[in-house]
Amino acid sequence: MQDPRKRDFSPVVLDFGPVRFYLARHFGFCYGVENAIEISYKALEENPNKNVYLLSQMIHNQEVNGDLEDRGIRFIMDTEGNSLMDWDEVTADDVVIIPAFGTTVEIEKQLRSKGIQTEQYNTTCPFVEKVWNRAEKLGGQDHTVIIHGKSEHEETRATFSHSDRHAASIIIRNMEEAKLLAGIIRGERDLNEFYELFSGKYSEGFDAEKDLQKIGVVNQTTMLATETQAIADYLKRVMKEHYPDDPEVEHFADTRDTLCYATNDNQDATYQLMKTKVDLAFVVGGYNSSNTSHIVELLESKFPTYFIKSEEELLSSKEVQHFNLHSQQAGTSTDYIPENTPLNVAITSGASCPDTLIDRVMMKFLSFFDEVKPVEEVLSEITQ
Ligand code: SF4
Repeated sequence: MQDPRKRDFSPVVLDFGPVRFYLARHFGFCYGVENAIEISYKALEENPNKNVYLLSQMIHNQEVNGDLEDRGIRFIMDTEGNSLMDWDEVTADDVVIIPAFGTTVEIEKQLRSKGIQTEQYNTTCPFVEKVWNRAEKLGGQDHTVIIHGKSEHEETRATFSHSDRHAASIIIRNMEEAKLLAGIIRGERDLNEFYELFSGKYSEGFDAEKDLQKIGVVNQTTMLATETQAIADYLKRVMKEHYPDDPEVEHFADTRDTLCYATNDNQDATYQLMKTKVDLAFVVGGYNSSNTSHIVELLESKFPTYFIKSEEELLSSKEVQHFNLHSQQAGTSTDYIPENTPLNVAITSGASCPDTLIDRVMMKFLSFFDEVKPVEEVLSEITQ
């Protein structure tokens, strides 16, 4: 309320006595996820006698997905796009909700051919649609669309499929792949290498000679905004050098505006957390959540950081279960709480994490300490 224009990204300090939490200024649910969850519950309420399906996991949060399942929703596909049930079971009488990530043109067609009104409960986030529109516009100007994203992620698959209708498209995962692409553009690598290096990640009929002459970059909205920007800046430089007679750099289209505000805000708030001097950090969110992993990557470069799904992973004051991004496995760490007092702890969460989870993690962590100040007292201190 004190910062309606969201200019201040510094963390809020909640001083509980033996523990001081540095709570990220922006964390948790974004507009797209909140909207998608609301529509899902509405779909259930409005259709008590119908089968209600979700095309795939609504968000990367097991707790929310589990609750929806308990209320009767069924998932048609898993997060990799594999069918979890027989598509023939879905009929025109059923309700199918399209998740916030959106879906591919092919799946939308398949649903329509069954007589399902996909627009009725389509929760595709407007910020994802904005990326699709941008891709269409790029295609209209004969630019190839470079999608910075993870090729296996639902949103990237959906964006690729929409972009592919209007423009030659490629998915690149990181700066390393951008450099490989630059090697092809500059002629340092054989053109044919393109098809091997980017196998399964380019549109059908892609012509590496013709289709890499004019390019623009869009992104999976939950990637690291700074990484997308760095890739776009790098490729712009490459095109500028490769086409010195093009002062307006028409061979490269600037697309800064496809970055999602929520991902940006959560990431900016994380950069501010990194400026603090804390003893450890917790990032709360689903293990398979892309935007949460990026927050973990940032924080673990500064502090001992524990990526946890919920308060249940705080097993005791001696043991914490958490996800290791590098090994891609969950494991247990011991003696994770340093002995100094007061203890400074950074805490934040990804876009698919309900705010109550942050609450529960803080409360569980505080239960390991004596003489903790009551919540009301701490809250009254920050609202004074
Ligand atoms: S992270 Fe951004 S693009 Fe994705 S659902 Fe949320 S608001 Fe929409």
